[in-house]
Amino acid sequence: MIELKHLSVRYPRTVQDALSDVSVSFQKGEFVCILGKSGAGKSTFIRCLNRLQKPTSGEVFLDGLPIMDKNEFEIRQVRREMGMIFQHFNLIPRMSVLQNVLTGTFGYRHSLRNLVGLFTAKELESAKQVIDDVGLSEMLHRRVENLSGGQKQRVGIARALVQQPRILLGDEPVASLDPGTANHIFTLLKDLHDRLGLLTVINVHDINLAKRYASRIIALKEGHLIFDGIPENFTENE
Ligand code: ADP
Ligand code: ADP
Repeated sequence: MIELKHLSVRYPRTVQDALSDVSVSFQKGEFVCILGKSGAGKSTFIRCLNRLQKPTSGEVFLDGLPIMDKNEFEIRQVRREMGMIFQHFNLIPRMSVLQNVLTGTFGYRHSLRNLVGLFTAKELESAKQVIDDVGLSEMLHRRVENLSGGQKQRVGIARALVQQPRILLGDEPVASLDPGTANHIFTLLKDLHDRLGLLTVINVHDINLAKRYASRIIALKEGHLIFDGIPENFTENE
């Protein structure tokens, strides 16, 4: 479904690759956790998948087609297939749950439509459906700034899913949450994964979470892929 071939990323004015010759492919239905210490390249890896980061060399294929040379317009189409959730949620604090989820339908640039409420009945219905899916149907009109961290990430998940993507990417989505809440969010992600048949790829630095939820673990160290396999085979000193 999505394949990375010999991917390397070197940031400007640095002397080492942030990601070094990483090749890996993902299939529909996998629940993948990316493990690694801070600075290992996890975030860079995730961002290459939807080309928020352009690799220095290598290629990313979606359904067998290369996405490296696509223009901004084409990349937007690609991103529509990939919902993304973030450590700091990336929500608009003063807007409601519903408004935040609706921004996911059109992207940030079109949030003027959001301000004036220019949405079709169908768009509203999809937004309400995903809000219900993440358990926040009672909070449609609450401002996001008044929600707890766990609730904010639920909004982030709903926003990522409103366009019905096939792939869900997460860049440390539970790193700002307490362990109990982090567990609840992972339970929800696993649930949605199972129900929607999503390919889910998530960065996490908590090995226990990865072992509990992932069907596959990938470990990075200093930009190199050092493990790729089932959780049962992963040991902490890797
Ligand atoms: P992780 O998500 O595992 O913490 P990152 O992908 O964020 O790792 O970072 C990998 C390496 O690339 C680190 O050494 C980091 O300092 C470096 N890096 C990340 N972003 C940039 C950037 N914009 N400019 C320069 N170096 C960067
Ligand atoms: P581009 O399409 O050129 O990448 P955008 O203005 O769409 O830029 O997005 C800029 C940043 O905001 C990106 O990091 C993106 O992940 C994030 N972003 C995009 N859409 C939303 C949204 N609906 N809500 C919050 N953040 C968003």
